Amino acid sequence: MNYNELIIRDLLDKNVTSSKELASVKRSFAKENKIDCPSNIALLREYHSLVNKKRIKKNSEIEKLLITRPVRSLSGVVNVSVLTKPYDCPGECIYCPKETNIPKSYLSGEPAVERAKKLKYDPYLQVKNRIESLELGGHPTDKIELRLIGGNWSSYTKKYKEWFVKRCFEACNDKKDRTLKLSQRRNEKAKHRIVGISFETRPDFINQKEIDEMLLLGATKIEIGVQSLYDNVLTMNKRGHGVKETIKATKLLKNAGFKVAYQMMLNLPGSNPQKDIEMFKELFSNPSFKPDYLKIYPCALVKEAPLYNLYLKGEYKPYNREILIETINEIKKYIPIYVRIERIIRDIPSPLIVEGGAKSSNLRQFIDSQKICKCIRCREIKDIKNEEVFLFKEEYEASDGKEIFLSFEDKNRKNIYSILRLRITNSDTALIREVHVYGQATQISKKGSQHKGLGMLMVKEAEKIANKKRIAVISGVGVRDYYRKKLGYRLSKTYMIKTF
Ligand code: SF4
Ligand SMILES: [Zn+2]
Repeated sequence: MNYNELIIRDLLDKNVTSSKELASVKRSFAKENKIDCPSNIALLREYHSLVNKKRIKKNSEIEKLLITRPVRSLSGVVNVSVLTKPYDCPGECIYCPKETNIPKSYLSGEPAVERAKKLKYDPYLQVKNRIESLELGGHPTDKIELRLIGGNWSSYTKKYKEWFVKRCFEACNDKKDRTLKLSQRRNEKAKHRIVGISFETRPDFINQKEIDEMLLLGATKIEIGVQSLYDNVLTMNKRGHGVKETIKATKLLKNAGFKVAYQMMLNLPGSNPQKDIEMFKELFSNPSFKPDYLKIYPCALVKEAPLYNLYLKGEYKPYNREILIETINEIKKYIPIYVRIERIIRDIPSPLIVEGGAKSSNLRQFIDSQKICKCIRCREIKDIKNEEVFLFKEEYEASDGKEIFLSFEDKNRKNIYSILRLRITNSDTALIREVHVYGQATQISKKGSQHKGLGMLMVKEAEKIANKKRIAVISGVGVRDYYRKKLGYRLSKTYMIKTF
């Protein structure tokens, strides 16, 4: 039986009647079998062939479903990861794998890497391809969040970075332009709008010049490899920077309006489970840190990294599965509600990992399934719910400023519908660092009027709370028009601004 036949049979067994269910069956099947999501056309062809051979009965529901073009939602944001070309990062981190023709810190066999390698790391083709396969899978592609990955973004030349980002915009615009600025302008009204861009870099590469450059490229979120809050652990792992660089970078990034994501590593040489847990307590009690997003990666022991030699000499041993799960579960208790854990455990195929808990292939699913976390990701709504929502406000000190986290949630704070991050410092401009509405919000607003325009309501509330001369929003290029038309903001350099 081929894959398409299996999917058709599954659809019939499950009595699937909506395109949403159809997309979900296709997605989970593709994931399970590590294949690309089949198109509705291919499935329809298979269906007709099975009916003709009398192997299945005619089913008009399924037929209709496969014929209908996927509904394009206006509010679902999809992530598109694009890898930069292999380039030697000047860092010497001992756990970092180095392979020929693969960007440092990545490994062949990782799904995103394999996709990029096939396309010779061409940004245009990577974006085009991804959009196509998302569309085939029935996902909306109107709003795209671009993740530019592949080692240390700041190590590439300015020329390469500009070209790379411009080609991504051109892929979304389906049109070439003379300059990046023109591509961005065109994207404001394009079919596939880039609503956010994130870069991965190191804390010691963050300075005002780098920040200005990232703003011009259209970045909205910066992921920094913090890895540890212990200087001795950082030294032992040859990170080449200390904790003070992280503190400085965090403040500079937040003051520029960026969302700040930290990549943290567990199980590094020099640490232990207790130290790892203490580190997370410190992360959210010390105002110098308090990131908005988190990726928690246990150190993965691979043969391609210098750490392997320490392991062979018996000087390093990774935690086993039980210890790893216990440590992560304990850490989860300290995650505040304004943080979104984006990922725990990296997507490294298990055969590439030599030993340790990170090797067990279902570990991520297991950890994710234990709903003991109050982070945003664990609570953001995915389906339409008809319930009343309330506006919540959290305040906390961070990097010499005040952060106000607004959110619309149900009364028990189990479901989160939208969030806004407002930053107030002694400057006369307040910053809106993030506005995010989760789920299929356009559909929500049709169903229950109480959910109408949550994003707009939050921005109005933030304007009131800020009570400043000016508000600046770091908005993705593709959202500028929304601020302009719906909220009366205007573009000033790379921010959307409103003066009061
Ligand atoms: S900075 Fe990142 S890419 Fe560079 S060596 Fe360290 S882990 Fe690898
Ligand atoms: Zn969580």
